[in-house]
Amino acid sequence: MKNSKTKAKYQTFIGLEVHIHLITESKVFCGCRNVFGSEPNTNVCPVCMGYPGVLPSLNEEAVKKAYQVAMALNCHLNEKAVFERKNYFYPDMPKNYQISQFEFPFGVDGYFDLELADGSTRKIRIHDVHLEEDAGKMIHEGSQSKLDYNRAGTPLLEIVTEPDLVTGEEAEAFVQQFRQMVRYLGVTDGNMEEGSLRCDANVSINEFGKGLGTKTECKNLNSSRFIKKALEYEIKRHTKVINSGDTIIQETRLWDESSSKTSSMRTKESSNDYRYFPEPDLPPYWPETKFLADIKESLVELPGIRKNRFIDEYGINQQQALFLTSEKSMADFFETVVEGDIEDKSLPGTVASWLSGNVQKILNNSGQGIEESSLSPRRLLSILNMIKKDKISTGIGKKVLGLVFEADKDPEDIVKNMGLDEGPDESEIFRIVSDIVDANPKVAEAIRDGADKQIGFFMGQVMKATSGKANPGKIQKLLREKILTGPEKN
Ligand SMILES: [Zn+2]
Repeated sequence: MKNSKTKAKYQTFIGLEVHIHLITESKVFCGCRNVFGSEPNTNVCPVCMGYPGVLPSLNEEAVKKAYQVAMALNCHLNEKAVFERKNYFYPDMPKNYQISQFEFPFGVDGYFDLELADGSTRKIRIHDVHLEEDAGKMIHEGSQSKLDYNRAGTPLLEIVTEPDLVTGEEAEAFVQQFRQMVRYLGVTDGNMEEGSLRCDANVSINEFGKGLGTKTECKNLNSSRFIKKALEYEIKRHTKVINSGDTIIQETRLWDESSSKTSSMRTKESSNDYRYFPEPDLPPYWPETKFLADIKESLVELPGIRKNRFIDEYGINQQQALFLTSEKSMADFFETVVEGDIEDKSLPGTVASWLSGNVQKILNNSGQGIEESSLSPRRLLSILNMIKKDKISTGIGKKVLGLVFEADKDPEDIVKNMGLDEGPDESEIFRIVSDIVDANPKVAEAIRDGADKQIGFFMGQVMKATSGKANPGKIQKLLREKILTGPEKN
């Protein structure tokens, strides 16, 4: 009741600022290594420590990755990109300014097709995509605060959306889908716990048709679930404040997961507080047409497009296509197996259900990704082929799959070494049965005369000849047939 009334009265506006840590060998303006988890202050140099007189030089790999994201977000690429100094003081930033982009970032005015819960999509406008350097890290231990500058100067890409999202759930979905996209592009690992993907959210509410309200910014949202919870909390808080006749103060608020609340951190600076000005030590960046064309050419197929293609091309269902395309490595694996036997039209469906069922179960238990496991597309195809050719049953196939993961061996070898195959087929068993019965006419005669127990003698002989792999029921049936019709055939 209350909810629907609120919804009818106010309109919500949510915008996100998503930061991703780019995967590069070195930092964005110096040659220091760009890695997570080193001993504190071991990946530092005069440039990223902000010593006087040093000069930054731009890392082209970071630029390439920035353009990849800008292109994937359908941005207009500025003819020239300009780096600017964002001035503020904080101990984790030794230069007292951060090199960022402001007026001329790499990309502007893009959009992201957000897939909504009902399966429809909505365009979320992207304000801009800009490259900047990260700050160091402050670690508080008891009464001490320590500084680690390993992260200072590592490449950070910031993506700013327009306030087009309307619920916490949508914001959560945006971050999840965006994360999937940038992982597909291979520009970041998107690990939120390690801070490779960080998100701040702006939210405001206002009466319908009156435009944006006064916004607050939520920080400390280091999981997509927190984003949803923090925004839902803020929307309720805004509604309550406005309903009571008070006004919202523009400020930055911190999300506290333990109390499930946001609290005021500082009143928000406006951009002119930062006194942005062009970085005098870096010339404007003019990308060459060929450089951009090569990047565009190298862009991978994005997850949403790939999912729809899987449904159309392979005839698999929505659920399976969603699963298969959730990670690029899984989607690549699937297609490699399917391409192994393009004649078999039922193969895509079989592979999809094996990957989403048996294989995923094992991966979940081991916490491995498919690319780091010992299952290769060729190995999975070989298991499926043995099942198709009745060499092994589906049950044995599952067992072999588990053993491939455990022992890192080829399925054919596992089946051979463990004697898991079904053994000879019916015609082969019949040939063996015939030979043995023909070689022992007196025993056959005795059985025909009523000494039924003697059939055990033949059973033993046939089992031995087939190394115990033939089905006993099948042997017995064929034996009786042969013994009964035996004399006529002789
Ligand atoms: Zn450095």
